[in-house]
Amino acid sequence: MVQKHLHMYKQVRSGSSQFKCIDPECTHLSTKSLIKGNLAICNGCAKEFVLTTEALRRVYPKCNNCIKGNTDSIESIEEEIQKNVDTSAIESLVKEL
Ligand SMILES: [Zn+2]
Ligand SMILES: [Zn+2]
Repeated sequence: MVQKHLHMYKQVRSGSSQFKCIDPECTHLSTKSLIKGNLAICNGCAKEFVLTTEALRRVYPKCNNCIKGNTDSIESIEEEIQKNVDTSAIESLVKEL
């Protein structure tokens, strides 16, 4: 028997409206409209959060902090890549070749 817990959801398959708990011992299965507004465990930070429409758009629902955190880190990585692409460095590489 699994202890009563907040479920950590995973979309049954991409595009499906059904979500199940990722705990292998938990058989909880529900639909998007039923779990929306409920508390669940975030797939990113493992903290409890309220399932929002935005969160339920993902295969692994995450809290707002994790959704924001992810986009922030992706943007900063892109910025970092752009900073590192120094055209003069490329030019000197071309000369060496
Ligand atoms: Zn569960
Ligand atoms: Zn989170």
